[in-house]
Amino acid sequence: MLVRFWGVRGSIASAITHHEVEAKIRAALELATPADILSPESIQNFIANLPFSLKGTYGGNTTCLELATGENHENIFIIDAGTGLRPLGNDLLSRGRMKGGDKLDFFLTHSHWDHIQGLMFFAPIYIPNNSIHFHSSFPDIEERLRYQQVRTHFPVTFDEMSAEKKFHYIPELEERQVAGLTVKTKAVRHPGGCYSLRFTQPDGKSFIFCSDAEFNLETIDEIGSYIDFFHGADVLVFDTQYTFEESLQKIDWGHSSAAIATDIAIKSNVKKLVMFHHDPTYNDSKLDDLTMQALKYKDMVAKSHPLEIISAYEGLTLEI
Ligand SMILES: [Zn+2]
Ligand SMILES: [Zn+2]
Repeated sequence: MLVRFWGVRGSIASAITHHEVEAKIRAALELATPADILSPESIQNFIANLPFSLKGTYGGNTTCLELATGENHENIFIIDAGTGLRPLGNDLLSRGRMKGGDKLDFFLTHSHWDHIQGLMFFAPIYIPNNSIHFHSSFPDIEERLRYQQVRTHFPVTFDEMSAEKKFHYIPELEERQVAGLTVKTKAVRHPGGCYSLRFTQPDGKSFIFCSDAEFNLETIDEIGSYIDFFHGADVLVFDTQYTFEESLQKIDWGHSSAAIATDIAIKSNVKKLVMFHHDPTYNDSKLDDLTMQALKYKDMVAKSHPLEIISAYEGLTLEI
């Protein structure tokens, strides 16, 4: 299974500003020595060794992930339809996919704006004869998607998007087979409700998406059923919107911190934890710092545990 991240922000899309780009250039130049800029090769080497926040950006689009399975990655699954869905749609077309007569499957965790807003900008949904299947543990997900496209809010209604649209209800904790993957959902604490998703391949490898989920010190003792759900995952994408300090202040806001995510990943014997749903107010250097803090925390609480921790960015691709 190939997993590619197209949108990693929480709450609202947040474009990088020109001030931030200028600050990156300044900081990079201050680090350079004359030897670093002598040749194209030395420049390339210098850039490769810069911190991620100086040479790139985590990205400003909201939640959207692509999963691809099959020998030629021909089965396409999409998790959530945040603003990252727009570039994904264009990329699918440039790959010769979804040009008409093609099919893909969406899994929707919940219907907050930052998880559905990209749907109207997903070019393949306007192409006749494409078949788009929506899977969700919310039985009324069709109604919710229609509601975001009433004429007062958007010029094109849901029915005017030409592709065939089908809806499939996945009852919580019941396994479903979708194009060779086993899928299971589990409700998590979040205002209005949300479901985490577990995908298992025929070879037993598993990928879990758990965003928009509040786990905190109050609930940490009651997480046995979640430990079972996450157990042994090859990759766990987890809501780490807040710093630990913020998570203590923002009880019931529906999100978690990297420290709690790390504790849960270690308890569940997860192999790789991916920090996700970055706060829209955090710039790239703060996100670098939070990743470093998470790594330090992990070393402090379980140095010998092989858990790997990374932070999601637009374009991150994982092979599971
Ligand atoms: Zn969200
Ligand atoms: Zn949400």
